Amino acid sequence: GERIGGVKRARIAAFAAHEAGIYAQARPLSRAAFEAGAAPWLGGVPMHWMRDWPQPFPMVVTQARGAVIEDLDGHRIADFCLGDTGSMFGHSPAPVARAIRAQAGRGLTYMLPGAAAQEAGRLLNERFGERLWQIATTATDANRFALRVARAVTGRPKVLVFDGCYHGTLDDTMVCLVAGQTAARPGLVGQVEDLRLVAEAVPFNDLTAVEAALAGGEVAAILTEPVMTNSCMVLPEPGFHAGLRALASRYGVVLILDETHTISSGLGGYTAGAGLKPDIFVVGKCVAGGVATAVWGLSPEIAARFAAYDAARPSGHSGMGTTLSANPLQFAALVATLAEVMTPEAYARMEAGAARLEAGLGRVIARRGLAWHVVRVGARVEFICASGPLRNGAEAAAAHAPALEAALHLGLLNRGCLIAPFHNMMLISPATTRRQIDHLIAAFDAVTAQLIET
Ligand code: PMP
Repeated sequence: GERIGGVKRARIAAFAAHEAGIYAQARPLSRAAFEAGAAPWLGGVPMHWMRDWPQPFPMVVTQARGAVIEDLDGHRIADFCLGDTGSMFGHSPAPVARAIRAQAGRGLTYMLPGAAAQEAGRLLNERFGERLWQIATTATDANRFALRVARAVTGRPKVLVFDGCYHGTLDDTMVCLVAGQTAARPGLVGQVEDLRLVAEAVPFNDLTAVEAALAGGEVAAILTEPVMTNSCMVLPEPGFHAGLRALASRYGVVLILDETHTISSGLGGYTAGAGLKPDIFVVGKCVAGGVATAVWGLSPEIAARFAAYDAARPSGHSGMGTTLSANPLQFAALVATLAEVMTPEAYARMEAGAARLEAGLGRVIARRGLAWHVVRVGARVEFICASGPLRNGAEAAAAHAPALEAALHLGLLNRGCLIAPFHNMMLISPATTRRQIDHLIAAFDAVTAQLIET
């Protein structure tokens, strides 16, 4: 139709064009530096996701501290994106920066443990439950290794994922549902393997579909987030997690919970808050305060099964691990984060701020008469330009409004607030101030006022 999310297409386009002009005019230095530095990079950027921001060209960042990010043109922006959760606890938390400085002159990677590794293991058990842990460098890798263990102990080939999920660029999970059938995602680059042999997709919140897939006898693992955060935000319906746990146990399937984003829920993640019982627990990105680190932990039962498998395995490459993983810089940052940053006090601040933001955005949406909604998972808030609640990835895909969202994001940035690209995520760090939150609510008010005709 001629409207997206209740807003006229023409209005969105005019607003986006106007805001793009304002953005560019305010950033001559960023533009010049970006253009001067683009040539050596494939597609002009060092990582192609940087082209997915809605700005005409990226901000060139000079520094980020706490919840403020600064660009070359001197703009000090309230950062609610926080590196898409990597800096969920604020940029350069003081204990992490101190720990990095202390380690900086003592070796950065040597493939042996130090005293901090011992301490990290103790803290991981304290925060996330008694498990047998491994360190990886990215959450993608942690999921990949967890899946290998699941396949090893079950002897089965497939991973069950939910349509609309995201678990990093782990090949096996890059499937979706097309007309009710599992299919490779259409945008994949250079995909040659038939992913249908190694993965099955079903709708989130659909235990009947999960059971039908498990009954086929080929599924090694269910890999899911506790809340589907990469598809707008889809909350689990009451009984869904209990049902997943019961089905996994009944069919001998390994249940892997990826808490990389839902660690926003509170201390110990959604797992601790809801009393979930994953066989393998994964968390990456923010767990070492922004230093590339992920952890994955096996339940004692899965660890024992894996030990038996491992003992009988022929020697040779395992397909798990990467050379720079479990390095001393990671341990320094991990210990500092677990002990001093990811604290109950920090979560209390994050939760209170996020509740304030949730309420404020909800008031604006109601005042404008928009059929939109707001979802919150602890410190993480998203607005969705459609009514809710959403039950699964298909509903989330239908709710997603890329052109409208891009215009909103650009409008918010021009008013001093950065939110995550790809989705409408706003994170509240322990460093985020009430003033910044109120500023974001006011910016959202101003932008929606311009988008909606009066
Ligand atoms: N799991 C989830 C739930 C994620 O959202 C992401 C990244 N957005 C990942 C895993 C992968 O993290 P990384 O890109 O650091 O490997």
